[in-house]
Amino acid sequence: MKVSFLGVGEAFDETQTNVCILVEAAGRRMLVECGANTPSEVWKISVRPDFLDGVFISHFHADHVFGLPSLLMRMWEDGRTRPFYLFGPVGSQRHLERLMEMAYPGMVKHIPFTLRFRELQRSHRWDDWNLRVVNTRHSVQNLGLRLEAGKPQTVFCYSGDGMFTPTAAKLYTGADLLVHEAYLEDGQTKTHCSLVQLERLHDLARPKQMALVHLRRDLRKQKKNILKKYRQRKWTIPESGDVFTC
Ligand SMILES: [Zn+2]
Repeated sequence: MKVSFLGVGEAFDETQTNVCILVEAAGRRMLVECGANTPSEVWKISVRPDFLDGVFISHFHADHVFGLPSLLMRMWEDGRTRPFYLFGPVGSQRHLERLMEMAYPGMVKHIPFTLRFRELQRSHRWDDWNLRVVNTRHSVQNLGLRLEAGKPQTVFCYSGDGMFTPTAAKLYTGADLLVHEAYLEDGQTKTHCSLVQLERLHDLARPKQMALVHLRRDLRKQKKNILKKYRQRKWTIPESGDVFTC
């Protein structure tokens, strides 16, 4: 499994692209999140209209989904014909179609390839991929994801936004790579996770590798100090363009 970080930032960071991850395994390519400023990062990797098989959206905040209309419109302009899969929370189809119509009126009716919406509740089989989701604690419904693919099986987990729950910790258990948001330094809010809380998650879920993204813009500037403080944890704070193989 190849995991490429196209963006690692939160919503309002002047130096970073919104969190956006490309996962490739078992002959499939899925984009994880498509925030307002992420499509150009995808096109820098490939402009082939068939490059992606689908997208996973954890929740409907702008920094996770507002890039989707442009991404799809370019596929249309460049001649895509095969279906495109859209995985997300219940209500995804209604929400994403409204977003597309607001961006480019008439798009939903006239787009020449099929949009296959898959509203995830617990688990979903997508050929050789297995997707499992749970809710985390965020200001809107947000899905934490466990993706299993390949032989031998590799497990990629991703938090989306929000504070983890005991169920989410269970979902992430034993992941080859857990990518988690780390918006705060200390404590917890009802809507985000912190570095201090992530120590607890690390002990509960015991992932083989843990990568922190979506750090609040001022916190991210302290990257060196954070890695030093938590050096025993061997966490990574990836940069845009970093690629992990697991
Ligand atoms: Zn959010």
